[in-house]
Amino acid sequence: MSGRRDDRRPPPAGGPSTTAVHGGESRPRDADAVTTPIYPSATFTFRDTAELRDHMEGRIERLEYGRYGNPTVRAAERKLAAIEGAADALLCASGMAAVATAAFAVLGQGAHVVLTGDCYRRSRQLVVQLLARFGVTHTIVPAADVAAVEAALRPETKLVLAEAPSNPYLRVIDVRALAAVARARRVKTLVDATFATPVNLCPLALGADLVVHSATKYLGGHNDLLAGVLAGAAPLVSLLREKQGVLGAVADPHAAYLLLRGLKTLPLRVARQNETALSLARALEAHARVRRVHYPGLASHPDHATAAALMRGFGGVVSFELDADLDGTSRFVDALRIPQIAPSLGGVESLVEQPALMSYYELSPEEREAVGIRPSLVRLSVGLEDEADLRADLMQALAVTAA
Ligand code: PLP
Repeated sequence: MSGRRDDRRPPPAGGPSTTAVHGGESRPRDADAVTTPIYPSATFTFRDTAELRDHMEGRIERLEYGRYGNPTVRAAERKLAAIEGAADALLCASGMAAVATAAFAVLGQGAHVVLTGDCYRRSRQLVVQLLARFGVTHTIVPAADVAAVEAALRPETKLVLAEAPSNPYLRVIDVRALAAVARARRVKTLVDATFATPVNLCPLALGADLVVHSATKYLGGHNDLLAGVLAGAAPLVSLLREKQGVLGAVADPHAAYLLLRGLKTLPLRVARQNETALSLARALEAHARVRRVHYPGLASHPDHATAAALMRGFGGVVSFELDADLDGTSRFVDALRIPQIAPSLGGVESLVEQPALMSYYELSPEEREAVGIRPSLVRLSVGLEDEADLRADLMQALAVTAA
């Protein structure tokens, strides 16, 4: 054994990729491994009663039981906090587990929530259907409308929930203005930045109290895990952690390991997805069979100016409407050879869906129209395939649809 082993320190803070590769992972690691191992341990032993007492009385910091913490999960949380520029982060079993944990931690009977109408459908259901049963009230305001949020705030409002960019129209609310109006009234802001990733948007730096991601999407990046993350100031994340210990929706260490691995390439992947998506959005916008493209990187998008001011890139999802009916649009989707039909987004594999036949299937055509989901709408999650191949595939499918 040489002394040099004991001298090892994590590398100094660097750019986004250095942080993504090295951030949060302690050194040295067990057995001098390069990667953080998976610790599939449900519980953690105490050497003797004295150690147990030290732990119980807060004299030492250590793990106790899997629902309260796990070394692989903790490493993923530290890396996520480093990437997000947050004091701390909490990993959860899924994105919805993260949203639900935050909601249960912050809200109580009689509390009021303001949420934008374009919030993820299940987040909306959590507030509108489930929390309503426990006396939580809500107001839904139009997408990307900070003035409407401000007007909806009440003395009992405890939380504003918004998404940037939102699904499927990729609306980008002015997070800085939103956080300022909420803060002035002592209301917490929770921003779901799943579609942006911390590479493109940092809601905490813009004044939000908490950011949530479905880590199932870009953060994991390989369509092989379910997880969610909440990040923010240390006291708030501590409160969430305490509530998670009761609610129990913790991440599995195997998922945390996959997430650690995925996060190392997050800046690279997202930069490429930003680039490819912008190029495809432009190509689609120029095509005669495409009625409208919804992408915040295009000047035609209603929130282009906000997105350009707040975001470093515009993301890997492109939504567009064809000049076709429901069946004609399905023919286009079926003619695609590279993107596969599936819900979700953010992975290395391109995925495509027709929201009217996927997320909004159970609604009637009239109800879909009322929530703005048109039959000709397509949502494309751009993966890491070559841009030229994806463009050629889109063009051939548009030609087939036209026939
Ligand atoms: N937030 C957004 C914006 C999402 O798109 C999703 C999932 O589609 C979620 C939250 C929920 O995440 P999960 O599926 O990991 O529970």
